[in-house]
Amino acid sequence: MASVETVQGPVDAGELGVTLVHEHVRFRDEAVAEQWPERYDEQLELEAALVSVNAAKDRGVRTIVDPTAMFGGRDVRFMARVAEQTGVRLVACTGIYSYDHLPHYFANRDVDAMAEHFVTDIERGIQGTDMKAAFLKCAADAAGVTENVEKIHRAVARASVQTGTPIMAHSMPAVATGPRQVEIFRQEGVPMERVQIAHCGDTDDVAYIEGLIEEGVYVGLDRYGLEMYQPIDKRNATAAELIRRGHAERIMISQDFCATIDWFPPEAAPAFEEAGAIRNWSMTLVFDEVVPALREAGAMDDAVFETVFVANPARWLTA
Ligand SMILES: [Zn+2]
Repeated sequence: MASVETVQGPVDAGELGVTLVHEHVRFRDEAVAEQWPERYDEQLELEAALVSVNAAKDRGVRTIVDPTAMFGGRDVRFMARVAEQTGVRLVACTGIYSYDHLPHYFANRDVDAMAEHFVTDIERGIQGTDMKAAFLKCAADAAGVTENVEKIHRAVARASVQTGTPIMAHSMPAVATGPRQVEIFRQEGVPMERVQIAHCGDTDDVAYIEGLIEEGVYVGLDRYGLEMYQPIDKRNATAAELIRRGHAERIMISQDFCATIDWFPPEAAPAFEEAGAIRNWSMTLVFDEVVPALREAGAMDDAVFETVFVANPARWLTA
């Protein structure tokens, strides 16, 4: 099997083991963190990441794919510290996580120039290290596929075509961004088995998700615990139905958990939990609640578990 780049170096894809395909060891705005570093406690951030990753490791997780890109505070040196201290492999990406905004730097450069930045991360290494990006990340959210979002998607697609690297695209089913994202990748000549459309589990519209799967892409049922988008029982019903319809080889189950995130003041977190916006959101929820529920529903046996948590991530990362 082909090898996959991790922050610990390349690994044979057959060695990845049980993999969480969408978690963040830290999520923060790099501009704020750069300008007001005293507002962040790197030691606390590291400790939170270690607690989460070690908890996942206790459930059998050997690899975590972390799609933190530009604007999410990607920092491969921080990732390497987490990987070193836990022994869990971390897989890094390149790309831009924006729902529309582009800095002047990229607004005034063309798609190919943007793609060339991504290619450097894939071929040479990230942030002056020799740690290489294993996949590409882009996003479309409530604003839809705006001009800037399309530019990022095309740049990601061209970097993928040039290097053979897979793509993960954050999507928003509520405004049906998925089909347009797939269309752009197709126009740019990206093989569909390289594409993962993230956050499809935020809808319980099985026909919408199945429509994407029929295009040949992977779909992420990857925000377990984020009840504000979809509660766990509906997410489980969707997962069970997709498996029942024979799509186990195309789904990715994860939590999009952020060990720390700076989007809200820390004191806001309990209120989210109280309001039911999040529930048991963690790096272990899928093992503690989701897998047992799917097993009980007859949707998951050992073979399906192996397909979803071992084979699918490895197949996508090497597509
Ligand atoms: Zn995410």
